[in-house]
Amino acid sequence: MAEHVTLCEVGPRDGLQIAKTRMTTEAKLRWIRALAASGLKEIEVGSFVPPRVIPQMADTQAVTEDAVTIPGLTVVALAPNLRGAQGAYAAGAHRVSVPVSVSEGHSRANLNRTPAEQVAEVARLVEWVRAQERPMQVVAGASTAFGCSIDGTVSTAAVVALSEGLAEAGVDGLMLCDTVGYGHPAQIKEVVRATRAAVGDVLWGLHLHDTCGLGLANALAGVEEGIRVFDACQAGLGGCPYAPGASGNIVMEDLVFMLESMGFHTGVDLAKLLEARAVLHAGLPEEPMHSQVAKAGIPRTFHPVTLPAAA
Ligand code: MG
Repeated sequence: MAEHVTLCEVGPRDGLQIAKTRMTTEAKLRWIRALAASGLKEIEVGSFVPPRVIPQMADTQAVTEDAVTIPGLTVVALAPNLRGAQGAYAAGAHRVSVPVSVSEGHSRANLNRTPAEQVAEVARLVEWVRAQERPMQVVAGASTAFGCSIDGTVSTAAVVALSEGLAEAGVDGLMLCDTVGYGHPAQIKEVVRATRAAVGDVLWGLHLHDTCGLGLANALAGVEEGIRVFDACQAGLGGCPYAPGASGNIVMEDLVFMLESMGFHTGVDLAKLLEARAVLHAGLPEEPMHSQVAKAGIPRTFHPVTLPAAA
C-alpha cells in the first residue's frame, strides 16, 4: 500500500501576499476551485489581517465563506492573533494557521511582538477556539526555523524551545517554516529530529521556500525523516513582506511530480494541477510563474500512484 503525503496549497495566502498586482475575489475563487479540482484536499485561502497591512488579503472573509462550500476541502486561513482566529471561525474555516517566529527580529517585524508574547497569544487563541461549538484546528507555523534574513542564524535549540512552548499552549499541530529559504538538507534533518524528540506527533510538517534552489532537496530530506505533510504553492509564488530576501515557496507541481514518482500517494492529478496554472495566470497575468515540470511537460515515464479500489 502506497504511503500518503498530505499537501497543503498555500498559494492564495503566501503566494499572493507580496504579488505586485491584486487578484480579484472572483479570480481567487476560480483558482481555488481549479486547485481543488486537481485533487488538493487542503488549501490556505487567505489571512485574517487588517486590509491596511496586506491589501491583497482584504477579501479573505468572502473567499473563506465560498471555499468552505467546496466538498471535501479543508479550508485553512492564517490568523496572527485571537481577533484573526475569531474572523476565521466566523467565516467557517476548518483550521487556522498562526505564525510564531523563532527569531526575535522577524517576530518584531511581522507581529510586533516577542516570540514569548506570541506564544502567550497562541495559548489565549487555543483556549478561545476550544470553548466554541464547532471544532477548528489550530496549527502554529514556526517561522524562520532555519535562518532569518534579519537576525541571521537560528539555533536548533531555539526551535525546540519554541516548539515546546507551542505544544504546551495546546496547538493541534506545528509546521516548521523555512520562511526565507536559507535551510539546507542536513539542517532540515537535524531540526526535524530534535523537534520530534521534544514534541512528538505535534510536529506535522514543513513549509519550505526555494530562495537558494534547495527547496525540493529540503523536502526530500523531510520525507527521509518521516515528514508526510508539506505546504507548497502552485507556480512557486510567494514570499514574506516582513522577511527581506525571501522568495517563492516550493513549487507544488514539481513536488507532486517528485513524490508520485517516488511512489507516494498525494491524491493530486498532475495534469489537472498543470491546467490550473492557466486559471492562476488569467487572474494574475503579470506574476512570474515557476515549475520545471510545467516547462518540460510531464515525462512519458511518469506513472502516478493509484490506490486499489476499496473492497
Ligand atoms: Mg511562507
